Amino acid sequence: MLGEKLIALKRPVAVGIISTTAMTASLLLWASISFFMGHELTFYGMALAILIPGFLSSISMWFTIGLLQKINRLKEELGYLATYDSLTGLYNRGAFLRVAESLYNSASRNLRKLAVVYIDIDDFKKINDNFGHAAGDLVLQEFGEMLNQRLRKSDVAGRVGGEEFVLLLDETDLKGALKIAEELRVISHRKIIEYRAKEIRFTVSIGITVLSESNNSGFEDLCNQADDALYDAKNCGKNRITSYDIMQIRKEQEAGCQPVPC
Ligand code: GH3
Ligand code: MG
Ligand code: MG
Repeated sequence: MLGEKLIALKRPVAVGIISTTAMTASLLLWASISFFMGHELTFYGMALAILIPGFLSSISMWFTIGLLQKINRLKEELGYLATYDSLTGLYNRGAFLRVAESLYNSASRNLRKLAVVYIDIDDFKKINDNFGHAAGDLVLQEFGEMLNQRLRKSDVAGRVGGEEFVLLLDETDLKGALKIAEELRVISHRKIIEYRAKEIRFTVSIGITVLSESNNSGFEDLCNQADDALYDAKNCGKNRITSYDIMQIRKEQEAGCQPVPC
């Protein structure tokens, strides 16, 4: 605890505190020993009792504190990399699933609405093929930034695959989720990303489902529903949104009669 506080200080300050403590302790120890042994307190003795530990602790602590601070920085970096996707700053797959599951459990317990939104960038491979991998990375970065700007603090967003993203929108019903999804779709469609004097455009397909009293069979089921809806949006021509509910109704109608348009 005390050690952590010291490491958090600036290196010269931490070393200064430790060295001063060492010098004071050494002086007190030397004075006590001299007193009990009946020796006289000499200036020379006092100077040595202060300077030797001061010199030794300053040098050894300078390197030790530096090393511990470096370890701390690496630990922080490791923690960041284990939680966030370095390209977009969104949760990576593992962290997203952990955070999302706990949000799902709380929403499910408290009968809150919760929308699950799957997003996949359309024809992303072509962007890589036409403009290069770095351009593809830039598209992912810009899309991640847009999600970060658009979403509320209570929402959870993760990059769960190469060009696949999942959002969990707390206290959001189907209407609210469709509104946000449509905004994201339109912004993506209109966005022009400049890369080496070239313009890159992209679109996204989106699948949505919503946790409700009647649709509450587990987090994994909800994810599968949103994924099915996304697959449907792709099959219907991309650059569009499918809600799982609406897709089910369409499939029921199709089963009874003629194919219903997307
Ligand atoms: P669809 O519209 O059906 O989703 O087609 P798509 O081309 O978007 O999907 P596909 O799964 O065929 O290709 C995804 C590509 O994304 C293939 C992979 O090389 C690329 N990719 C995955 N991760 C990254 C990444 O971090 N950076 C870049 N630049 N490309 C990536
Ligand atoms: Mg794709
Ligand atoms: Mg994909």
